[in-house]
Amino acid sequence: VMQWSLRRQSSWVQLAGHQGNFQLSEGGEVLKRFSEVEAVCLQALMDDPLRPFVPQYYGSVARGGHSYIRLEDLLSGLKSPVIMDCKMGIRTYLEEELTKAQSTPTLRTDMYMKMVKVDPTAPTVEEHEQQGVTKWRYMQWRDTNCSTSTLGFRIEGIMLENGSVQRDFRKTLSDVQVTEALLFFTKSQINILKAYHYRLKCLAEALQISPFFKAHEVIGSSLLFVHDRTSKASIWMIDFGKTTPVPKCMQLRHNVPWALGNREDGYLLGLAALTSFVGQAIDQ
Ligand code: ATP
Ligand code: MG
Ligand code: MG
Repeated sequence: VMQWSLRRQSSWVQLAGHQGNFQLSEGGEVLKRFSEVEAVCLQALMDDPLRPFVPQYYGSVARGGHSYIRLEDLLSGLKSPVIMDCKMGIRTYLEEELTKAQSTPTLRTDMYMKMVKVDPTAPTVEEHEQQGVTKWRYMQWRDTNCSTSTLGFRIEGIMLENGSVQRDFRKTLSDVQVTEALLFFTKSQINILKAYHYRLKCLAEALQISPFFKAHEVIGSSLLFVHDRTSKASIWMIDFGKTTPVPKCMQLRHNVPWALGNREDGYLLGLAALTSFVGQAIDQ
């Protein structure tokens, strides 16, 4: 048992999120710290056309005083997996988070520091003087400092088969940079790029007919790209911690610009862009 769990430990890879939020479990499962929002989404997705694109959800479990959701380990069975986490959508905060932040405009030194670390020229003269920015200013800046607001997705991280992780793609802004990142990630292997392209098209079709998708503002969710040296390649929808239902009378289109109040997330704009970048990488 010991040897088995050690083996599993060493193959666990996490490209985003707080490390303490995950635990490995027996039998090809991962445990993610419980969130009601995410659990409700996963439950609904198990009965939706999107089910083949989501890790299997096995309910929740308590471990060491915390609750976890039990998910299929998407890396299980892969030989030296290569993975990429793409955060989808034209914004990564909920409308609710924005309005809450706007109603309490306190200055945040921590966010100012994070901003300066990435781009010392980003704060205004006033913000430099105050050594602080408001949370809503920070949230909006963060999405415009990467491809989120322009392309509708951003690459959060890539892990190569030797285990090396690169997280500095967040500032990947231009079309050329994105195509280069995809070629780097796939080592320009045409069969893998084609498999990804096909999977993205199938996902687009499933989203088209998904009742879940029409009824949810999908924020901060990722597509997890996974392939290995046997050329297995697949893409999965993960991370529904900020995916929230819209009122019954509302149906989201996911392919129109966001204006405060319309709750649109631009998920399909990002998916179309990503699909076209994979297509361009195939043609190179
Ligand atoms: P954040 O909100 O900061 O993005 P999070 O805590 O909500 O993070 P996730 O985004 O769900 O966590 O997952 C973080 C990482 O863990 C993913 O990028 C991926 O590498 C890995 N991961 C998540 N779920 C699975 C899974 N079912 N199988 C394999 N790997 C997974
Ligand atoms: Mg995530
Ligand atoms: Mg999350």
